[in-house]
Amino acid sequence: MDFALTDEQEQLKEEVRRFADNEVRPNATEYDVEEKFPHDIVDEAAKMGLTGATIPIEYGGAGYGALDSVLIAEELFAADPGIALSILATSFGTEAILEYGTEEQKEEFLEPVAKGDAISGAAISEPDTGSDVSSVSTRAEKDGDEYVINGNKMWITNGSVGDFFVVLCKTDPDADGRYNGFSQIIVEADRDGFEADKITGKMGIRASDTAELILDDVRVPEENLVGSENAGFYQQMNFFDATRTGVAAQGIGIAKGAAERALEYAQEREQFGRPIGDFQAIQHKLADMHTETEAARNLTYKSAWEVDEGGSPNTMLASMAKEFASRIAVKTANEAVQIHGGSGYVNDFDVERFYRDAKITQIYEGTTEIQKMIIARELQGKGF
Ligand SMILES: Cc1cc2nc3c(=O)[nH]c(=O)nc-3n(C[C@H](O)[C@H](O)[C@H](O)COP(=O)(O)OP(=O)(O)OC[C@H]3O[C@@H](n4cnc5c(N)ncnc54)[C@H](O)[C@@H]3O)c2cc1C
Repeated sequence: MDFALTDEQEQLKEEVRRFADNEVRPNATEYDVEEKFPHDIVDEAAKMGLTGATIPIEYGGAGYGALDSVLIAEELFAADPGIALSILATSFGTEAILEYGTEEQKEEFLEPVAKGDAISGAAISEPDTGSDVSSVSTRAEKDGDEYVINGNKMWITNGSVGDFFVVLCKTDPDADGRYNGFSQIIVEADRDGFEADKITGKMGIRASDTAELILDDVRVPEENLVGSENAGFYQQMNFFDATRTGVAAQGIGIAKGAAERALEYAQEREQFGRPIGDFQAIQHKLADMHTETEAARNLTYKSAWEVDEGGSPNTMLASMAKEFASRIAVKTANEAVQIHGGSGYVNDFDVERFYRDAKITQIYEGTTEIQKMIIARELQGKGF
């Protein structure tokens, strides 16, 4: 067993941290307050290969492995979760194209994302469909050599800034079994009948764009089908297995950012004639925050390491990492605010934002309750 990162990985961490300190951290409050997508910072990140980081080199990406991309996410999220998500989610959805897409789709859709010329998204959730993905009702009907798509997609990251989306649709409403009859279809944002309605007023990750998508008789060529027709649900579940370790990485980044800021503050702030870090109650908080962050980190790194070693995600480990790291992110951000006292309650200090940003990691890409359901299902060797 070797826990050491390679020299290249240490260097990658260092480079991303420098970028995060110079470009992300100083601008975080502005993008949070104004709820605006950080196009300029995303462009700079693209030059460093941070957008589409895991897209293979032959499609213009940096070709980073799963552990590399966890390291990138950790450093960026420790600087600011909203801007970090805006950078890293520019390729959200492309995992499905990479895994199941045709050569033509990979060339057409992956390259622009990898170069920072396009932004993608994954559209699964609907107003009435969240945890129960099998209740997706967006309909794609075949008409000649095209699909005609109708439905609404809710809470879609990059919804109003994205160029294309991998949309989960019902293609065969008469299919037997609740998991059959779905397909993943690429929908470009410039198609007639496509509309995005930006959602404002989010609690956290406010720099990240979120929108509702309205698909009204949107026609796409049949070549936009990703993988096999009617096998989309199973493809979607594999997609989540792959991306959940990424959300775990977001969690450890948030926990690290909050824990570091709390440690710094505890050594500076004085009460009763000495730094608050001298009080045992604060010391215990700091000890727990840093210990739990390290535990979450090890679980997340192991989940990523399994992907790099074995070529595919370990469903149970990915869910364990996502559930635990997101829980620690929320807990650590909460304690960081507590250590800051009243100052932690206003946006002069980053921890106020971390507290709001952390919560999303327990909700998207499968809530905490759903992760526990998956873990228990895997423990008992049961399928869907
Ligand atoms: C900022 C943001 C960005 C998002 N980005 C995307 C995106 O890019 N693409 C996309 O498709 N979706 C996205 N989502 C949607 C997100 O994935 C869903 O919100 C999430 O899956 C939960 O679904 P829901 O909101 O409908 O909650 P519900 O499914 O209605 O759940 C409500 C509550 O009930 C619990 N619950 C539900 N079923 C069970 C059960 N069987 N057992 C126990 N408890 C249960 C849940 O855990 C939760 O606590 C995003 C959401 C947000 C807020």
